[in-house]
Amino acid sequence: MTCPRDTDLSAYVDHMMKPPERARFNGHLQACPICQQRLDDMTALGTSLRALPSPQLGFDLAAQWNDRLHTQPLGRRPARAGAGWRGWMPVGLAGLTTGLALVSGLWLGGLMLGGLMLGGAAASVSGGALVRVFDPIPPGGLCAAAEICRLPKGMP
Ligand SMILES: [Zn+2]
Repeated sequence: MTCPRDTDLSAYVDHMMKPPERARFNGHLQACPICQQRLDDMTALGTSLRALPSPQLGFDLAAQWNDRLHTQPLGRRPARAGAGWRGWMPVGLAGLTTGLALVSGLWLGGLMLGGLMLGGAAASVSGGALVRVFDPIPPGGLCAAAEICRLPKGMP
């Protein structure tokens, strides 16, 4: 018989083996000094583990947790009835801020396009100059080759 695994040895020590298997294992233990030594070591380990003192808590942890679970948190109060529109105040402020940002963006965009939205001086700006703002090379920029920048011939 080959030597048993540690799990089988542990089962033997804990008396968890079936009687026929235990009898076969006893036969092997009589003939194998290695397994006898393993059995002695495992028995000594179990004995020393059982001899360790059990730690004792100085307080009742379950009672403390029960107290915490059944009390109201201090920083949180229940919602009052009739809070009404004041509960939605942060949402209203956010919407107002977003609206102001949108209006100012439209106004600044109108200024960038030469005041077309406001009329007046916009008539002096030609439509071609407005489109040039979105060209790959901005007005005043340098272009190494006209083919790269897709400039029509004759343009500076
Ligand atoms: Zn063995």
